[in-house]
Amino acid sequence: MPRKCGLCNQSILDDAFPRFKRLDPQRYVLRFLQNGCGLPGCPGNQLGAWAIPADPSVKYTRPDRNKLVALPRKSNWEAYFLRNGVENESLPDNVTLVCCRCRTQLFDDTEPRWTRESTPRYVLRRPNCKTCNKKNINWSPQNTSIPWVDSSKLSRKWASLLKQPAFDPEDVVKNPDWYFPTAEAQKADHQ
Ligand SMILES: [Zn+2]
Ligand SMILES: [Zn+2]
Repeated sequence: MPRKCGLCNQSILDDAFPRFKRLDPQRYVLRFLQNGCGLPGCPGNQLGAWAIPADPSVKYTRPDRNKLVALPRKSNWEAYFLRNGVENESLPDNVTLVCCRCRTQLFDDTEPRWTRESTPRYVLRRPNCKTCNKKNINWSPQNTSIPWVDSSKLSRKWASLLKQPAFDPEDVVKNPDWYFPTAEAQKADHQ
């Protein structure tokens, strides 16, 4: 791969072992030059420079490890926050919801999702209401003794956990009660 210095634009040694992005094999993965390329006339600097392809039509990317790791984990809150089939055995397998707007329309959730917490919470679904004829409205379990949580609350919590560098998703499985949004916060959301 013929290259030039990203700082001074001078041609530098070819990359004899070019690396390409696994998910996008056309995309060359840049290499970092500590303190510039070292050629006469290169300003160099504390931050260093990137060696970029000499051919401007070659697409490239920085080897951003955090970005590559974070992406596939993004929508995985279900895998860590929800109980799987066997763990659901002692829980209701049908939860009847009532529309909070008309208070008449019912919906049977026959595949209820439950959180992994020691006191599992039902994860709310938001079907359309045939009576109100509206999308994305609030529902709640008809049986008011069933604790529940909105899935948007869980996905937001998951996103904030992933931003913490020391967070390991497996921790949720080991100590689930530490990582869930509180019931109080849920209530405040629906006032
Ligand atoms: Zn240079
Ligand atoms: Zn309704």
